[in-house]
Amino acid sequence: MAEVKKIAVIAGDGIGPEVVNEAIKVLKRVEELYGYRFEFEHGLFGGIAIDEKGTPLPDETLQMCRSADAVLLGAVGGPKWDNNPKELRPETGLLGIRKELGLFSNLRPAVVFDCLIEASTLKREVLEGTDLIVVRELTGGIYFGDKFRREGPGGEEAVDTSVYSVMEVERIVRQAFEIARKRRKKLASVDKANVLETSRLWRETVNRIAPEYPDVELEHILVDNCAMQLLRRPASFDVIVTENMFGDILSDEAAMLTGSIGMLASASLGEGSFGLYEPVHGSAPDIAGKGIANPLATILSAAMMLRYTFNYADAADSIEKAVQDVLNAGHRTADIAVDSSKAISTEQMGSLVAEHMRKV
Ligand code: NAD
Repeated sequence: MAEVKKIAVIAGDGIGPEVVNEAIKVLKRVEELYGYRFEFEHGLFGGIAIDEKGTPLPDETLQMCRSADAVLLGAVGGPKWDNNPKELRPETGLLGIRKELGLFSNLRPAVVFDCLIEASTLKREVLEGTDLIVVRELTGGIYFGDKFRREGPGGEEAVDTSVYSVMEVERIVRQAFEIARKRRKKLASVDKANVLETSRLWRETVNRIAPEYPDVELEHILVDNCAMQLLRRPASFDVIVTENMFGDILSDEAAMLTGSIGMLASASLGEGSFGLYEPVHGSAPDIAGKGIANPLATILSAAMMLRYTFNYADAADSIEKAVQDVLNAGHRTADIAVDSSKAISTEQMGSLVAEHMRKV
């Protein structure tokens, strides 16, 4: 009997519960097909937690996440809480949970589905075969360094400092090499080593670690060049690893190669195998409760959980393949439908993916 894996489910607000339900449906299908076993524990988070517990991240939810093997998150937020003070805003819970769970990297895949290629702004021949993942450092760099204002010879000056330690670079670079090993074994390390000292330390560290991964092909690329190559030859990238601010920008650029926000999955990882998995999109208050949200981003996030936390690559492959098959068969939710009168519901899309899954 497979070991029971504990999944903390925090569905959140808006379309969060609707899309999370479909991901759970697919995970239950994984149990049936592969004999893996999951235990789902549900907790309050975001706006609903503010309403019921007076805080976006209640202690019991945090404890539940800490004692789980992985977290599946829907989305939080909505107009009801927009004018709340900072500590009573759903987004404060998001920052809090990442910090409390020690999540130092963010993984954002950008996969171009052949049958949705026309939804992208780029040409088919540029996009074909694109399947990459951006690994972004999440807790260091310029977002977290000292910031201050001062008087200078030219008047008021603003200073933001970027700091990276060898330890911070090492742990994310090792994680990226490991991820590359589970994929096509190519790693692009992005920096600005011709100008920045933090980037020079980054590159030295990558070069020191690289011999431990002789099976992974390493490329160093300057961030400005990477921004261009992502538009010129996206299919040539496999894993891209980079620091916080470069990763923020490049992961959004890469996301736009693919078309709809309803398709974009993500993971945030800490030490060991623990991870938090969530769609990139928000709580979409404009369509919440209508049963029309696209659940594929959350379903694909659940597939990432199987791959990166549980090491169940077979089950992850079967979900990703089922998503391809369902799309190839012409099924679309409203956000990706050409003819909206033929769009299917959130629930129908989840069921179709579960039905198309085969043991691979
Ligand atoms: P959003 O991602 O919620 O929505 C942007 C647009 O995309 C909307 O038109 C929405 O209908 C559409 N959309 C999003 N997800 C979709 C899906 N799965 N299927 C079909 N259409 C989808 O971004 P927003 O409108 O800027 O923010 C709404 C709320 O979500 C805000 O309160 C914001 O703070 C919050 N938010 C939360 C997260 C998170 O929980 N991680 C991330 C971003 C925004």
